[in-house]
Amino acid sequence: MQYLTVLGATGSIGESTLDVVARHPDRFRIFALSGYSQLDKLARQCGQFKPSFVAVADEQSAATLAEPLRALSPTTEIVVGQEGLCDVASAPEVDMVMAAIVGAVGLRPTLAAVLAGKKVLLANKESLVMAGGLFMEAVRRADATLLPIDSEHNAIFQCLPANYGLGQRGGVRKVLLTGSGGPFRSTPLASLSTMTPDQACAHPNWQMGRKISVDSATMMNKGLELIEACWLFDLHPEEIDVVIHPQSVIHSMVEYVDGSILAQLGNPDMRTPIAHAMAWPERVTSGVASLDIIQTARLDFESPDLQRFPCLKLAMEAACRGGSAPAILNAANEVAVAGFLGGRLPFTGIAEVVARVLNRLEITEPDSLEAVQSCDQLARHSAEDVIEQLTGKG
Ligand code: NAD
Ligand code: MG
Repeated sequence: MQYLTVLGATGSIGESTLDVVARHPDRFRIFALSGYSQLDKLARQCGQFKPSFVAVADEQSAATLAEPLRALSPTTEIVVGQEGLCDVASAPEVDMVMAAIVGAVGLRPTLAAVLAGKKVLLANKESLVMAGGLFMEAVRRADATLLPIDSEHNAIFQCLPANYGLGQRGGVRKVLLTGSGGPFRSTPLASLSTMTPDQACAHPNWQMGRKISVDSATMMNKGLELIEACWLFDLHPEEIDVVIHPQSVIHSMVEYVDGSILAQLGNPDMRTPIAHAMAWPERVTSGVASLDIIQTARLDFESPDLQRFPCLKLAMEAACRGGSAPAILNAANEVAVAGFLGGRLPFTGIAEVVARVLNRLEITEPDSLEAVQSCDQLARHSAEDVIEQLTGKG
């Protein structure tokens, strides 16, 4: 039996994870769940999976959750704050941790799981973007097992040779990182500034949380994934080609020196990479239907237009620059996306804010978690300033 902590259980990835867990009660059991806002949903999840612990943001959330929890799962104990998250991520009873909190707040608990040497299923790409060097060093030191949940990285992992890593390239020439191009792939450029949050979140192929949906519309998501792939697979940004593939059937590819290209295909449903990582190196059913390749009929590819997707360009530059640039990019993006979702910024303002923050701040070489977090904070303040300037309230 494998005991699992799901950080961010109430989100899109969290729910898909619990769906896979429910299909295999003989293999997986929930040790702890965490949630931030949807406390009713969290209580229902506790009722179904009877975890030993549930982690919430603060005492007020704990008080709200206490009553429904008494009725639905009286033996579940409530823990609070970042400390509670870190505790349930690193407890000795836990075998696997699904890191599916969105954004930079996911870094500490994910790192706690890594430092405890857990099998870590990484959905929270922001933690690698912010602190990739420290994070990967912690994985090596603690001998943790890091498995990618992001569908592209999970696909790359599946296509890499068994002897890849530890200085061994196994004949790999490059990686082809695919992305759909999001809902605005062919929207007239002049209309982009008028796109609403609901339009940006209406992804053609994937059902996801709102932050990553906006990142997909700007293609910042692909930029964050480029940085994520560099850390996970020890690649230089130049060894990764970003390819637009509107059908989202191929989830990414690996090219070898002999000219072979291996791809992983499947329906766009996150339960496939989740089940793959949970059962690895075995395989289990995920509930995902067979891909109908006859119905799919065709696969299209194009190269990304960096004028349409300036966020992708900014992320590519930050990947090459290294140091604190990716952490600044990530923090500015989180603030800008929240500004867009909250109606304070137009869609095209997101790239504007990120570019200005990157221009304003000095790029440093943060060598500790505290240094990374202070870059993150500085970039957040700077992004708030820029938003005030852009919206004329500065
Ligand atoms: P979501 O918005 O649906 O869920 C986010 C989860 O994080 C929720 O459980 C929420 O309660 C929790 N959370 C939010 N703010 C928090 C805070 N301040 N403190 C503690 N918990 C907090 O997001 P999602 O789509 O499930 O994405 C989760 C992560 O997985 C993101 O990093 C995203 O980039 C990554 N990811 C998602 C997908 C996808 O298909 N949804 C694919 C690849 C990667
Ligand atoms: Mg992805």
